[in-house]
Amino acid sequence: MKTLEEKILKEGTVLPGNILKVNSFLNHRLDVDFLMEIGKEISRLFADEKIDKILTIETSGIAIAVAAASEMHLPVVFAKKHKSKNLSDDLYTTIVHSFTHGTDYTVVVSKEFLSKGERVLIIDDFLANGKALIGLIDILNQAGAKTVGCCCVIEKGFQGGGDALRAQGIRVESLAIVDEMTDATVTFR
Ligand code: 5GP
Repeated sequence: MKTLEEKILKEGTVLPGNILKVNSFLNHRLDVDFLMEIGKEISRLFADEKIDKILTIETSGIAIAVAAASEMHLPVVFAKKHKSKNLSDDLYTTIVHSFTHGTDYTVVVSKEFLSKGERVLIIDDFLANGKALIGLIDILNQAGAKTVGCCCVIEKGFQGGGDALRAQGIRVESLAIVDEMTDATVTFR
C-alpha cells in the first residue's frame, strides 16, 4: 500500500532492537481517516473469501480490526492479554512471547465468542517473528474455527515470521513489508 509506505518513511522512526515506531498514526495517536483507508485495503484483499468474524489482539490490533470490520460489516473479537476478573473461566488460552517486551504473556478469548466452523480473519498491527499470529491461530484451532488468513499492517519481512506461516500454507497478507531498516532509512519489499 503505497500511501502506507510513504507514511512510514515520513513519520516512522527506527529504534534499537529492530523496532519500528509508528506512534503518530498506528500505536499511540490514531490517524482515523488513514485507518479507514487501511480497512478498505484489507477488505479489498480478502474480498474473495467468505469470512464470518475478525479476531485481533489488544491493544493496537483493535483499531485496525474495527476499520476493516466497518468496511466488511463483520463482528470483531479481540484477544485479551491477561485474565481479568470480569471474564468467565470458560476461556481459550495460549502463551505468546512478546517481541517488544521480551516476556511471555497469556492471551485469552472467552469461549462464547468463537464458534466451531466459523471462518475467521486474523488482523494485527505488526508481524515480526509471528508469535502473536501463531497464538491467535492456536486459539482458533482450539475453538474448531477456520483461519481464513492473517492480515498485518506492517510486516518486518527480515524477521521471517510471515514467510514461515506462508510456508505452512497460511494466507498472510501485509500492507507493507519492510525488508531492511537502519537509522537512516526503511526499505520495502
Ligand atoms: P511477533 O509476535 O510477530 O514477533 O510480533 C508482533 C507483535 O509485536 C505485534 O503485535 C506488535 O505489537 C509487536 N511488534 C513487533 N515488532 C514491532 C515493531 O517494530 N514496532 C511495533 N510498534 N510493534 C512491534
